[in-house]
Amino acid sequence: MLTYGAELWGLNKATILEQNQTSFLRSILGTDKNTSAPAVRAELGMHSLQSNLIIKVFNYWLKILFMDTNSLPKICLMEQTNMALTNSWISRLHETITHHGFSIQYLLSIAPQARDIFKQRVLDISAQSDLELLSKNRSLSWLAKNKITFLPEKYISMPLPQVLRRAFTRARFELLDSMVKYGRFHHLPYQERTCICGSPSVENISHILFDCQLYAPIRLEYLSPFLERTVHRDPIHRLSYLLSGSNVYIVRKVAKFVTKAAALRTQYVEQIGVSCKGDLHI
Ligand SMILES: [Zn+2]
Repeated sequence: MLTYGAELWGLNKATILEQNQTSFLRSILGTDKNTSAPAVRAELGMHSLQSNLIIKVFNYWLKILFMDTNSLPKICLMEQTNMALTNSWISRLHETITHHGFSIQYLLSIAPQARDIFKQRVLDISAQSDLELLSKNRSLSWLAKNKITFLPEKYISMPLPQVLRRAFTRARFELLDSMVKYGRFHHLPYQERTCICGSPSVENISHILFDCQLYAPIRLEYLSPFLERTVHRDPIHRLSYLLSGSNVYIVRKVAKFVTKAAALRTQYVEQIGVSCKGDLHI
C-alpha cells in the first residue's frame, strides 16, 4: 500500500516513507530508534524503498513503450518526450537510467531482458551504497568490519525466541548498555569510556564478553566452552566467532549471556548508585 501509484511519483525523494520502512525494520531487529538505516537494511538484506520505487517507475516506462500508439499512457509519454521539459517524469527517468550507468538505446536494444538487468543494477548499487556507509560507521565497529555481504544474516531466520534474537542483534550492533554507548551520546573520548567494574578497560563488547569481572560466573556458564578453545584466543577472531551468527548453539548462548549480563549490570549500577547506566532510557 505504501507504494500505491509509485509508477508516477516514485522518482521523488521518498524520505518519509523510507523513514517508516526503516522504523519497521528497526522494530523487527529490536535496535534503537537511531540505529543506522543502511546497517539495519544490510543485516536483514532488505533494499531501500527508494531503489524499489525506481524499479517500479522503470518497469512502468517499459510497459508504456510497448503499448499501442493510441493508448492514453503512450500518447502522454510521447508528448512528454517531445516537449523535453527538464523536470518532467520522463526526463527524470532518463537521468536516473543514466545515473545507473545505462543508455536508453542500450536498454531498448536488449528488451525484454532490460527489466531484469536494470533491476539488478539498481539493487546492486543500493546494496553497495549501504555496505559502504556501514563500513564507515564508527559506532558499529564490529559490524562495520564484518558485514561484507548484503545477504540476510543467518541467525535472523533461526528458530529462536524473539527476545534472544534481539539480544543477539544488540550485541552485534554494540547496543548493550555500557560506557561505550553512554560515551557515544555524551561525547566522551573513547578511551575514557572505561568499565563500571573499575577496570581501566573500555567497556566495549569484547570487554563484556571476555573480560569483565562482573560477568565471570555467567561467562563460565554460557561462554566457557567457546573460550577454552585455543584457536579462539586471538581477541578479534574469537569476537567474530561469537558474533558471526551462523551457529544456532552459539547464538543462543551469546544471547543468553548478554541478556543476563544486562540484568547484572543494572543491578550493579543500582548498588553502587553511580550515573553510568548506559543509555537505558534512550
Ligand atoms: Zn568491566
